[in-house]
Amino acid sequence: MIVTLLSPIFVVNWLNKPLSHIYVEHGATDYATTKRILERFPRSEIIFIDDYKDFFNRRNQNFEAQKLSPKLILAKKKSDYIYDGSQFVQEGDETDYFYTALMLNCLYDCSYCYLQGMFSSANLVLFANLDDYFTSVINFLSERDDSHKQILLSISHDCDLLAFEKVSGVCREWIRFLEDHPGFDIEIRTKSANFSAIQDLTPTDRVLFAWTLSPPIVEERYEKGVPGTRLRLDNALLAASSGWPIRICFDPVIPVDGWREAYSSLVEQTFRKFPMKQLRDVTVGTFRMNGDYFRRMAQARPSEELVYRDWENKNGVISHTFDERHEINDFLTEQLLNYIPSDKIRTWS
Ligand code: SF4
Repeated sequence: MIVTLLSPIFVVNWLNKPLSHIYVEHGATDYATTKRILERFPRSEIIFIDDYKDFFNRRNQNFEAQKLSPKLILAKKKSDYIYDGSQFVQEGDETDYFYTALMLNCLYDCSYCYLQGMFSSANLVLFANLDDYFTSVINFLSERDDSHKQILLSISHDCDLLAFEKVSGVCREWIRFLEDHPGFDIEIRTKSANFSAIQDLTPTDRVLFAWTLSPPIVEERYEKGVPGTRLRLDNALLAASSGWPIRICFDPVIPVDGWREAYSSLVEQTFRKFPMKQLRDVTVGTFRMNGDYFRRMAQARPSEELVYRDWENKNGVISHTFDERHEINDFLTEQLLNYIPSDKIRTWS
């Protein structure tokens, strides 16, 4: 049985004291998303603010303390709705990959997450003006030259949108928007066990759910607040058997003691019964992070063991050495080839 909602401790705590305070930009009050959330939490104290950046970008915030009890800020995004894809994703040449930032920060707390270096605050910002995003997509599609490449727009970037779906309803809105607007697909990347939040929708090939899986030894040590491996896998299996295309991500692979056995077992557990018709592809990657983000993460999380590993710093990117990356990727690829063809495996190296 799928356990829904956000299982782990601090997420549960956060929802058990549901949004005692919600910050709302004056400019975001009239959007349907804002109204829906405020109606859902009628006892919350609403604090109106002019601009989320005044609150979110303040200096000298304590990221670790905020992470224990993040506040929600409902804001209006005023520009830059679509960005070019990151150098760190594994998309092939046949796809033009873009992303949009609908939410800043995440309910979960992964030790290796770049958001800790990207933002000075652990509070959650949700942009409520979805129609402006939709208009931007329509304009973007109409302005593109006649490329035959598939357009994949990641909507769960800089956050885990599905983890927040029962509060925000934003994934549902995007899937509905997509129905009437051909010419692009969306990717919803998640570590959540929250598929039930959109399970009633009709599956479409144009929505790619990308589930990131880690073996229990990694999940317990480096993924605070994230649903356990079994729950995530059960959700991915349920989504696949319901007819949605699925991407499975082993990313980042963290080489802990016994990592080969742990990942080999995870691969076996994942694909032993996977409905392969629904498997779009599998991505494999190792830890990598923009050097500036890494420096800021090290300041914000000085107790984090990952910060002190012997990383390579090459061209402003912190990662394993070339040999380490290839050792990890080669091992995972070898394991995956027991179940899936090579053209479905994408690695970052
Ligand atoms: S689930 Fe993703 S976005 Fe959320 S903390 Fe973990 S790595 Fe970051």
